[in-house]
Amino acid sequence: MEDEGKAVREESARRPMILMYDVGRDIEKDRLGKLLAEQNPDLGIGEETVIPLFMKGPKTGDSVWWVCAVAPDAYQKVTTFWGGHSCLKSTSANWGIRQATSAVIYKAVFLPRITYASEVWASGVLTAKAVKLLGSKQRRALLSLTGAYRTTSTDALQVVAGQLPLDLEIRWSVVRKKRKVGLVSEEEKVDQWSRILEIWQTRWDTSEKGRWTHSMIPKVKRRLEVPLEVDHCVTQFLTGNGDFNAKLNSFALRGSGACRCGTENETVDHVLFRCPELTLVRDQLIRDIGGGVARPCSTEVFLNTRSNYRALCRFAKSAIEAKQLADRLE
Ligand SMILES: [Zn+2]
Repeated sequence: MEDEGKAVREESARRPMILMYDVGRDIEKDRLGKLLAEQNPDLGIGEETVIPLFMKGPKTGDSVWWVCAVAPDAYQKVTTFWGGHSCLKSTSANWGIRQATSAVIYKAVFLPRITYASEVWASGVLTAKAVKLLGSKQRRALLSLTGAYRTTSTDALQVVAGQLPLDLEIRWSVVRKKRKVGLVSEEEKVDQWSRILEIWQTRWDTSEKGRWTHSMIPKVKRRLEVPLEVDHCVTQFLTGNGDFNAKLNSFALRGSGACRCGTENETVDHVLFRCPELTLVRDQLIRDIGGGVARPCSTEVFLNTRSNYRALCRFAKSAIEAKQLADRLE
């Protein structure tokens, strides 16, 4: 045990470390690196690239966390990859990278790397092509961050995640750096921030994409002011992209768009406002949101306060669980 501790300290001094969430408890230490390499051929890494050091996290349940060392030359590859995928499957348990981890990776790895050379880019090198390329990288990171379906537009993903579009993120990082070395005043910095938010707001208002999300989250500034934890359930209601028959049908993934209740197509607003099968959970939502909210209420209401948002999260979870249960019983 003593030796093991020493080995861990030496290993971690040499290599960058990552925290891997939701690893099946029954997966042994020796097999983890091998499985990772095998199950993710796109990564193109060897068995020895990711070395599990020690277990952390929940003492009970099916999954644990592993603190792993990563070969320095593969670190970028691995974190970028995990910025975009829930990639690990196990025969016995569901592995995957949780949104919480993704958020850490987004802030700690993705943004600093992207904004690292931002002064250079902002001085004119940031071509439309570069913005597009960076945008697709951001898209992968945002998908992971929000747990959204891949059919969600980038415009909507940025708003749901509360993350600036990448070119604006870079612009903002340049302003912050200039402020640090005294090249711009605090006033100019504040001005620039308002300007950046205005640009984002105009884009969001005029985009043809993510219009359901726009009805839920019309104001980007407001989105940044309210810290929202997003998960796979509530994201479906914020984006309208989810296990809704009408949506699945539009991608030819389901034969019919009709809801099981038989009254109309199963769209996000049908589920949220009208589906008679969800009357009980909806009544709870209405009670939670409380006073004076007309029925059906405006979609903006859900993000007015944190408690309204939490009520929406509970509704989303119950609605999705009810649907899954009904699917299983069929
Ligand atoms: Zn229905």
